[in-house]
Amino acid sequence: MNRIFNFSAGPAMLPLEVLEEVQRELLDCQNSGMSILEMSHRAPVYDRINAEAEADIKELLGLNDDWCVLFLGGGASLQFSMVPMNFLTAGKVGAYVDTSSFSAKAVKEAQKVGVTKVLFSSKEEKYNRVPKLSELKLPANAAYLHITGNNTIEGTEYVEYPDTGKIPLIADLSSDILSKPIPTEKFSLIYAGAQKNIGPGGVVVVIARKKFIRGRNKNLPTMLNYEVHMDNNSLYNTPPVFGVYIVGLVAKWLKKQGGLTVIQERNISKAKLVYDIIDAHSDFYRGFVEKTSRSYMNVTFGLPTVELEKQFVLQADAIGLNGLKGHRSVGGLRASIYNAMPRAGCEKLAGFMEKFYLANR
Ligand SMILES: *Cc1c(COP(=O)(O)O)cnc(C)c1O
Repeated sequence: MNRIFNFSAGPAMLPLEVLEEVQRELLDCQNSGMSILEMSHRAPVYDRINAEAEADIKELLGLNDDWCVLFLGGGASLQFSMVPMNFLTAGKVGAYVDTSSFSAKAVKEAQKVGVTKVLFSSKEEKYNRVPKLSELKLPANAAYLHITGNNTIEGTEYVEYPDTGKIPLIADLSSDILSKPIPTEKFSLIYAGAQKNIGPGGVVVVIARKKFIRGRNKNLPTMLNYEVHMDNNSLYNTPPVFGVYIVGLVAKWLKKQGGLTVIQERNISKAKLVYDIIDAHSDFYRGFVEKTSRSYMNVTFGLPTVELEKQFVLQADAIGLNGLKGHRSVGGLRASIYNAMPRAGCEKLAGFMEKFYLANR
């Protein structure tokens, strides 16, 4: 076996221990005599997997029974529609912060459903930062404020979340979910595609206050109604069972590591290894984003020429540092260093960056 360091933005690395456990259990899941892939989602074994995944995520985030955790399909992209369909009622405004191409997609879907207002956009500055809290002026009739917690493509992240008072705060945390403790008291609903930080593609985790979901638009298509999924413990229809199972294993792995405070410290120190090289050679490694908005999950940077960027990707790949090409919409380079990226991967990347700088400056 020759596992490389995979810096892909998503689907992304999973903890090796989790993959090994999946492998061990693949043919016989928890003494059921069958694979998780063959099992009815109504089987007691799956019930337990579903319930434990929910309980472990709640435990990691310190949530009580006022909250539910749902496992849905459709990707984070379907949440762009489900949020306004459930909460953007007549006479209200869906307030959005536009910090990335994913934020812009969320706005676009909301516009199809109701009235929206973009309170802040860094689009003109190529999405180089998230706003300061003082820059956000919420309309009184806002149905909610929607933010993107970590901007996967551009490499920015909030360190502090807006205080919206009575107005519900909704966040797309697809790429930083469970990477750090979250002040959940500020939020009404959080969603995340699992494939960046906590699982495989195909499952979305929705973490919401039960009261916020209760009694919303009854005329919604059933599958798009959060309340239906809540009342059925995510088992209204066949859920993405394999994904839920892996998310559950990742949650247990996170608990074993010591929880989200420990993971956050680790993530900060991993990111620092890479940012320190960028800052030490800032004439060569050009960070795209403002330092105060830097992401701990996706480190983005460019080189003096496109040719050098190509060389960087090729040479890195040759020594087992994979997936460093930036998103096609921004170009340059991007190192995605989610929870499962070992510190050794960041050390190796930093070492390579130093050598590449010395050879090409
Ligand atoms: C990847 C990503 C999405 C889209 O997720 P899908 O599951 O592919 O729909 C949305 N928002 C953010 C912040 C992302 O990183």
